[in-house]
Amino acid sequence: MTTNDRIKTQASCADDFDPDTLSAERAEHRIEALIRPVGGCEKIAVRSALNRTLAEDVYSTVNVPAHNNSAMDGYAVRSSDLPADDSTTPLTVIGTAWAGRPYHGSAQEHQCVRIMTGAKIPDGTDTVIMQEQVECVDNMIHIGPGHQPGQNVRRAGEDLGIGEIAVPAGKKISPAELGLFASLGIAEIKLARRLRVAFFSTGDELRSIGEPLAEGEIYDSNRYTLHGMLARLNVESLDMGVIADKRDALNEAFQYAASMADVVITTGGVSVGEADFVREILAETGTVDFWKLAIKPGRPLAFGTVNDALFFGLPGNPVAVMVTFYEFVQPALRRMMGQSDVRPARFNVPCQSRLRKRPGRMEFQRGVLKVADNGSLSVSRSGAQGSGMLSSMSSANCFIILPTASGDVEPGDVVCVEPFEGLV
Ligand code: AMP
Ligand code: MG
Repeated sequence: MTTNDRIKTQASCADDFDPDTLSAERAEHRIEALIRPVGGCEKIAVRSALNRTLAEDVYSTVNVPAHNNSAMDGYAVRSSDLPADDSTTPLTVIGTAWAGRPYHGSAQEHQCVRIMTGAKIPDGTDTVIMQEQVECVDNMIHIGPGHQPGQNVRRAGEDLGIGEIAVPAGKKISPAELGLFASLGIAEIKLARRLRVAFFSTGDELRSIGEPLAEGEIYDSNRYTLHGMLARLNVESLDMGVIADKRDALNEAFQYAASMADVVITTGGVSVGEADFVREILAETGTVDFWKLAIKPGRPLAFGTVNDALFFGLPGNPVAVMVTFYEFVQPALRRMMGQSDVRPARFNVPCQSRLRKRPGRMEFQRGVLKVADNGSLSVSRSGAQGSGMLSSMSSANCFIILPTASGDVEPGDVVCVEPFEGLV
């Protein structure tokens, strides 16, 4: 098969039923088949690891917590001193145990130790009574019935035992893992190296911020949304600016991007009329399919390789860029970063709005997911749905995903949502 054979039809027309289209699911599978995690790892200080991927299992070398300790402020007692019936038992307070300052003596029969949360359980004791549940007079406390032996004690190793896997390889590092590493006394961890992503916009009508706009020209917004979406993934991104729709300029940009990065992302230039141009250039250096996806917005999408880099040619429309990024690019990047859990969460909620939808394509409408005072979730549409309208993307916090065969949605119907802001 020659490279040209592998370069398929360009996106076209607005018919909603089109036999040449590719479903979102099949596109995802084709992308998945080409993805390999990038090799290489590096040692990084724990604080800088947020959102990156752990490259090897981290084992616990200590018990967490290290000692049995108190979960409450109260009194550490011997369970054999707990009253057996409805009576009360008097105990003598022989000292105090603080967090980080243990009581070094040992409690004998009918003795107890005043204890603070986190303090080591003193020798001889095994149970903690909350301070609110005792009567304290001078150096004596009186405890009543209803206590269980061993209560309010956090056991050594109950969070993590020596030799257990504390965090498995492939885990995306969140604030909880930062704390977990710290609790094990670990200062540096081995992470998959950062993914390198180069991106540029194509289009003669595009200007960068700071440049004056001539008639018919617009500011390039796609590079800004891409910058934001990539920054959240903690990849190393290289913004190459706007590249004019000129063969030499585009060719040079593709070559440079592919030499610098693991992944090249472009926006614009993959729809009818424009695709030929990009197709010709990539025929020399890449293996790229031009897909007509059965989704709205985001119908045209180019995918393949340019030299050794993976290539995503996203549509030009600003909302279509975000949809195709979240649905196809982000899971692929996460896989390349070594993460295993890459799909965004989707769930069903009642829809409060009427949604217009023609059968034939899967639609990603913009929605606002809300939590009512009683805790129940519902979604409503967020403004006009044009594929160039970033304002409705800004007021939305989720996609309402309407399946291919679905028609209009009536208020009260249950729909599938995928959050991308706020609730994630
Ligand atoms: P294209 O896919 O290149 O035909 O572009 C489709 C639409 O998206 C056109 O209206 C373009 O002007 C617009 N567009 C393309 N690239 C950008 C960009 N980087 N920022 C804002 N709008 C864009
Ligand atoms: Mg264009």
